[in-house]
Amino acid sequence: MICIENAKVVLENGILWDGIILVEKDRIFAVGNRGEVEIPANAQRIDAGGAYVGPGFVDIHAHGGGGNMFWQEPELVAEHFLRRGTTSVFPTLYHSLDKQDFLTAITNIKAAMASDGAGKAIRGFYMEGPYMNPDFGASRKFNKWLGEISPEAYKEVVDEAGDLVKVWVVAPEREGIEGFVQYAKSVNPNVVFSVGHSRATPEQIRKLKKYGLNHQTHCMDATGRVSAWLGTRGAGPDEACFLDPDMYAELICDSGAVHVNADLQRLILRNKGIDKVVLISDCSGRKVDNPAPEGLRHMTDLSFDDQGNLGGSRLSMDMACRNIMTHTNCGIAQAFLMASRNPARSVGMDDEIGTIEVGKRADLVFVDDMFHVQEVMLAGILQQF
Ligand SMILES: [Zn+2]
Repeated sequence: MICIENAKVVLENGILWDGIILVEKDRIFAVGNRGEVEIPANAQRIDAGGAYVGPGFVDIHAHGGGGNMFWQEPELVAEHFLRRGTTSVFPTLYHSLDKQDFLTAITNIKAAMASDGAGKAIRGFYMEGPYMNPDFGASRKFNKWLGEISPEAYKEVVDEAGDLVKVWVVAPEREGIEGFVQYAKSVNPNVVFSVGHSRATPEQIRKLKKYGLNHQTHCMDATGRVSAWLGTRGAGPDEACFLDPDMYAELICDSGAVHVNADLQRLILRNKGIDKVVLISDCSGRKVDNPAPEGLRHMTDLSFDDQGNLGGSRLSMDMACRNIMTHTNCGIAQAFLMASRNPARSVGMDDEIGTIEVGKRADLVFVDDMFHVQEVMLAGILQQF
């Protein structure tokens, strides 16, 4: 038994200011304020030194990190994020990979998941595409999936990834998308669909709701809308997400509010509420830094493709938490909801991860009041870096 004491324990609905967490093997055994929890005499004691101890971060959308791509070096990338408090991460595969690359990625990542190292933090795939609107997003010219949406093209990838896929991102306006969605759903009935890189109308998006579309991929970023008349404002994925109380809004929260303007972040948070915003890193993993455009050179948490387009970030979730506090003045406990509970819930894994509750996996992160990571526990094991 491990006893974490002298901790500000961040629970789903509040903070224990003098909290104790007991961990047995890989599970949370007991939680409470000092005096409420009986500490076994032989427990190994860890003094948190007054740090905030919250649920390990859950990053559902990350392509790579630390100069490596998930599809090639999953173990290294998982460790990059684990050091920064992310105890559940979902490698994100993009339309710049062709079919063979997708299959290689799936093999590599499955092997990392079965390992005993940092790969244990990988909890499934987030498929950003391959069928999105080619008008949006980074590395557009490398899109390998512009052809017809047909079972010959996608079946092997969908089958091979199986129920490890937690999210498929689609552009509902693409011809033939419904057939793809039906097939992906038949392979994994629990999968979630997300609208992203799209200018679909709310009507087109609602048509896919019955298959489990409840997500918007990076809200207010890489989306558009079609207007009925010149000069009038149409409605697109952002508006569909705002209209539907079931939908989660993913948010890329960089330090300069470049991906999503700070006023828009406040608008998203006010509209969707604290329960429906999901922080993501969308970390790119690019090895080579493409030069940032004039005016953004001082920012170190952005990434640019070789066309100079904004192409993901260099964020990790600790930074995203700090940034959302900067831009929206939310508090630490709320940032944890958006970085851990909501993402876990949005992919249907909140019975296992996302909050500090008895019986859940003992995935914990110790932070100071600026979200600087001090310690990380993965499945009951305090990590040594
Ligand atoms: Zn994207």
